[in-house]
Amino acid sequence: MLNLKKVVIVGVLLLITILIPSQQLAVTANCDSQAGCEAIVTTLEKKSNELTEQLSKMSSTDRTSIESKMDLVNTYLQEVSVTRDDIQANINQLAEQSEQLEIEAMNLKDKVAGRMIHMQELTKGNVLLDFLVNSESLGDFIQRAMTLNDLTAYDQKLLNEMQTKLDQIVINTAVSESARASIDALYVSAQGQLDELHALEAKLVVELQKEAETLVAQQETVQSESSQIVTVPEGSYTNPLPGGYLMFPWGVCGDDYFGRCHTGIDLGAYVGAPVVAAASGVVSAAGSDSSRGNYVTISHGDGSTTQYYHLNSLSVSAGQSVNGGQSIGTMGATGFVTAPHLHFELWINGVNVDPAGYIGF
Ligand SMILES: [Zn+2]
Repeated sequence: MLNLKKVVIVGVLLLITILIPSQQLAVTANCDSQAGCEAIVTTLEKKSNELTEQLSKMSSTDRTSIESKMDLVNTYLQEVSVTRDDIQANINQLAEQSEQLEIEAMNLKDKVAGRMIHMQELTKGNVLLDFLVNSESLGDFIQRAMTLNDLTAYDQKLLNEMQTKLDQIVINTAVSESARASIDALYVSAQGQLDELHALEAKLVVELQKEAETLVAQQETVQSESSQIVTVPEGSYTNPLPGGYLMFPWGVCGDDYFGRCHTGIDLGAYVGAPVVAAASGVVSAAGSDSSRGNYVTISHGDGSTTQYYHLNSLSVSAGQSVNGGQSIGTMGATGFVTAPHLHFELWINGVNVDPAGYIGF
């Protein structure tokens, strides 16, 4: 009794499960009749048109919009794909049913044919008559005679039904295959839309890439321009008067400089002490005038220049390359001076700076 209850409960549950529509995508109408198949195709066609209309209203100029469009097309493609799979499963099922029915029909035909041959054999040798004569009663006789005929008639009827079913399967298969072809076309069309969007996105990516490259190039230009502005670390120049001492610092302003400020440092040693290039470079000027006396200007190729005034003698000339520490002349008192000294200036990117720290003072 308990088992029967269980069976009933399980049966009811199964029935409910079957009756609840599967939570698949919207198009779940059965493609097992012409009307059903046409309804599915019509629904998908309508959705395809709606999709196309929706896409036409959306922008394609930025990547986010293109990707939103792709999402829409992909969703549609998925729906079409699921429906197509459903229909294909239906077609496969019909093929299986058809095969099964054909086997059954063949067996039945063999059975009927076998019985007919048997009856003929019975008739020939009067065996059928014996079979009938041996009937115990008239009723039995009729029963026996009818059984043979009824069996044959029943099987024939069954065969006819099978044939009808087979014919219906052929029709259903044709309808399903036609629907499948229509859905294939919709799929190809949507796939085309997706391909176009992919191409559009790829084009956009290339454009963005170009823009990025331009930006990077601009940035690099700015960087290379700014890298030309030298930042010279302190102590990176050689003391131009080895062994010399600091007589007067840079930056002092006042009467001594005719209202201007001191643009260099004055280093003292002895007249004739060697003066060397503070760093390697090219002598951009070497000469003499009344205020600077004998002077040398060295351009170091990194935006910095050094100047050496009041030299006693010069040992380099303009255009000559020099190494840092190489002698360029001797200390003296030429030009506008009150005592022998080397006036040494440092210019970085056209800006006059205090050289003391740079030469280790
Ligand atoms: Zn000076």
